[in-house]
Amino acid sequence: METPILRMAGEPEDSNELYIKREDLLPFSMGGNKVRIGEAFFDDMKQKGCDCMVIYGSRHSNLCRVLSALCKSRGVPCVMICSHEDGEEQEITNNTLLVDWTGTEIVHCRKQEIAAAVEEVMNRQKARGMAPYYIFGNKYGTGNEGTAAGAYAEAYKEIREYERRRGFSFDYIFLPSGTGATQSGLICGKLLMGGEASIMGVMISSREYGRAREVVREGVASYFEKTGKSLPEDYQKEIHLLDQYRQGGYGRYDVRIEACVREVYCRDGVALDPVYTAKAFWGMKEYLKEKQVEGKKVLFLHTGGGPLFYDYLTKREKASL
Ligand SMILES: *Cc1c(COP(=O)(O)O)cnc(C)c1O
Repeated sequence: METPILRMAGEPEDSNELYIKREDLLPFSMGGNKVRIGEAFFDDMKQKGCDCMVIYGSRHSNLCRVLSALCKSRGVPCVMICSHEDGEEQEITNNTLLVDWTGTEIVHCRKQEIAAAVEEVMNRQKARGMAPYYIFGNKYGTGNEGTAAGAYAEAYKEIREYERRRGFSFDYIFLPSGTGATQSGLICGKLLMGGEASIMGVMISSREYGRAREVVREGVASYFEKTGKSLPEDYQKEIHLLDQYRQGGYGRYDVRIEACVREVYCRDGVALDPVYTAKAFWGMKEYLKEKQVEGKKVLFLHTGGGPLFYDYLTKREKASL
C-alpha cells in the first residue's frame, strides 16, 4: 500500500517547496494513518493468539472507525470503549455513526474511568470464553507503543524511496501528533534508514508537553526492543514536538484554522479537518514563518480524518442556516 507524494501549490510568496504525502488515500474505510496502524494492531493480535479486539477512543476517533471496520470485515468480535469529557455535548459524529454500523458494542465511560472500563470489558470477554486483545497494552493504556510505531517505521521507507527516485532530500517532515505513534514510527524509520529531514510533530492533543514527549520516546524505544534492534544512544535528538499551535487543546480551533481548511481545499483540492490535519498544517506554516525557514523542501504527512472534514462542513452549514 503505497501512497502518493505530490507537490503542493503553496502561496506565491512562499520560497519553500511544499509536498504532501496522501495517507488519506489509503484504500480502506476512508483512509488515514489509522489504516496502517489498525493493520499493525491486527497482526499483533493474531501473533499474541487473541481472537477479540478491545479498542478505545473518543467520539471523534478515526482509529476506532478503522478498527471496527477491519474487525467486522474479518469476522473478529470488537468492543469499543468510548470516553467522554465532563460537560461535553453528546453530539453524534460521522465516526461514531460508522462504528455503530459495524455492530460494534460501545461501552461509554468518563475520561477518568478508562482503566476501570478496560478491566471490566476484558474480564467480561474472558468470561465469555474469548481471548481479548486491548490495543494499548495494559488497562492504563501502556505497554504496546511499539506495535503502532512499527506501521510508520515501514511507511518511512516510501519517503526514502521517493527521495532516492527524485535525487533530493526533504529538510522537514511535518505531521499532526496525537498519541505520538505515527511520529515515533517515522523517527524509528529515520534511525534505521537514514535521511536528512527533521521530523516535526505538531501537537493537536491536550496532553501535557512532557508527557507527550515521553510517549514518543517510549514508542521509539519500544519498537527497537520489540524488533531486537539496537537503539542509537543519541536517539532523543530526533524528537521535535511543537506545542505552541494547539489553540486551547484537542478539538479547539479558531478562524485561522478554518481559513486554512478553505485555502488548502481551494488551492490544492485537498480536504483537511480542523481537529488534526488543518491544525498541524496551519502550525507548520506558522513555524516556517516564525523561524524564517526559506528555500527548503518540506513534506506534510496528510494523516487522513476525512469523516471529520464532513463533520466540520455539516456544522458550518447548520451555523449558516
Ligand atoms: C490519530 C490521528 C492523528 C494522530 O496520530 P498519532 O499516531 O495518534 O499521533 C493525526 N491525524 C489523524 C487524522 C488521526 O486520525
